[in-house]
Amino acid sequence: MAKIAVLGAGVAGLGVALAAGRAGHEVVLIERDDTPLAVSAAEAFDWDRQGAPQVRHSHAFLARLRNLLRDRYPDLLEALYAAGATPMDFISMLPEGMDRTPLPGDEDLVAIACRRTTFEWVLRKTILNEPSVRLVHGMGVTGLQTNPASDRTAVAQVTGLRLEDGTVVQADITVIAGGRRHDLPGLLSASGVVIRETIEDTGIVYFSRFFRLREGAEFPAQTGPIGGDLGYLKFGVFPGDNRSFSITLAAGVTDRELRRQLTDPDQFITIAAQIPATAAHVEVDRSQPITGVNVMAGLLNRRRGFLDESGEPLVLGLHAVGDAHTCTNPLYGRGCSLALVQAELFADSLKEHGLKHRDRAVAFEGATRDEITPWYRASVAQDRLNADSTTVQNGPADAATSTADAATSTADAATSTSGAREFMRDGLLPAMRTDPVVVRAFLRMFNLLEAPNSLMTNSDVVARVLTVFNDRENRPAEVSMGPDRASLLEAIS
Ligand SMILES: Cc1cc2nc3c(=O)[nH]c(=O)nc-3n(C[C@H](O)[C@H](O)[C@H](O)COP(=O)(O)OP(=O)(O)OC[C@H]3O[C@@H](n4cnc5c(N)ncnc54)[C@H](O)[C@@H]3O)c2cc1C
Repeated sequence: MAKIAVLGAGVAGLGVALAAGRAGHEVVLIERDDTPLAVSAAEAFDWDRQGAPQVRHSHAFLARLRNLLRDRYPDLLEALYAAGATPMDFISMLPEGMDRTPLPGDEDLVAIACRRTTFEWVLRKTILNEPSVRLVHGMGVTGLQTNPASDRTAVAQVTGLRLEDGTVVQADITVIAGGRRHDLPGLLSASGVVIRETIEDTGIVYFSRFFRLREGAEFPAQTGPIGGDLGYLKFGVFPGDNRSFSITLAAGVTDRELRRQLTDPDQFITIAAQIPATAAHVEVDRSQPITGVNVMAGLLNRRRGFLDESGEPLVLGLHAVGDAHTCTNPLYGRGCSLALVQAELFADSLKEHGLKHRDRAVAFEGATRDEITPWYRASVAQDRLNADSTTVQNGPADAATSTADAATSTADAATSTSGAREFMRDGLLPAMRTDPVVVRAFLRMFNLLEAPNSLMTNSDVVARVLTVFNDRENRPAEVSMGPDRASLLEAIS
């Protein structure tokens, strides 16, 4: 059995501890945030998680993640439900008038509604029951312990983590799960290791506020998509656990005026009240805010490469998992699912190759390239299309459009951006409202159950969407998802 040292006890680090710990390996998690285990979900919501500030923002836990827990860790899924999380069954939310009788495969289309702090709290509580897992919190990692490369061709091997109190945690394998803000290249360069990095800004800033339903109040009936894109503003409502929910509004990084308004807690509610999908949620007799407005900028898509051009590891004995390896635009809600999937990939490569560091690294990076990287590419493609659309005021696209746009652009680089948007707006979106085959195909892709380009490689789905697209002149105009920017700013002034 291996001794594994993990930097960071966020979702990825905890996922590694779960997968490797249950396989009998000895795991030590080192977490800089001083967060003793909370006694309840309510207390976990107050955790001081400076190292992972996104816990103060809306999180969706997609069906891919829920199915992974259902199939490999049913006790964890049960514990989440016991803590107040709820299943989100997409089939029960199919558009009004569509047959909701379950079909084979529909049992997989269930996500988890839960606050991020509740998710992490349950994950941590469950993992700390594993006899082979230990967590040190309130202690930062400041360096790596390495056997330096012995000549020009050799590769440095990491043998543990150096902590801020000067102690060293020796390990057979070191896992970096420090999240999107941790400086992994800096940590490695001190040992002479240079990794490859690709970065593309998402172009947005997140504004989130949490609410709780008032006693006796219920969630409003859902009559349309709970997320969308007005071109200049993205919006989404995220059901949480224990009658909580959150609203996220995301503005362009360059839109100073809107960003200023969104930071104000009262204006945040006034703006949410202007958007049909969020308006009923913020009615004063339905809900009350339980936080101020949380803001997060610097949201990058980023991918790191740990193999050289000939496919050989740049460093041995070290892996990166979760956002430390690949992070994507939070808008698409994929990060936690991908982090847990990648933690499983790590455990699989460990099972197959044990302490053969070179073979394990090649296998892990290969599996990551197949399972994780396509979602990075989809995220970047989607963001580029969204950036093209931000000049369109009150654009009719919604989250579904943009996700499908990314699939299109990935699948068919020859399709022009505007043509793709038109096809999605006048084809895919209306088809999703009426065609159960198309909406299921979209939901499976959206929930990471199929590849990002799966819609465009499915000839049946393409034919159905094309039929709807060709009928576009005969349909009434799309219903507006909200005001244009000028009207919104006027309404809140
Ligand atoms: C605004 C926002 C909204 C998001 N919404 C969603 C969503 O809806 N659905 C979804 O699935 N994903 C979402 N994500 C992505 C998701 O939060 C991340 O993908 C996920 O947290 C990745 O987990 P991680 O463990 O890699 O990183 P993190 O969860 O960030 O954890 C990293 C940990 O490492 C610790 N650490 C850092 N440096 C050190 C050090 N030197 N020593 C010791 N410890 C250290 C930190 O304190 C932290 O606890 C969102 C992200 C953002 C930014």
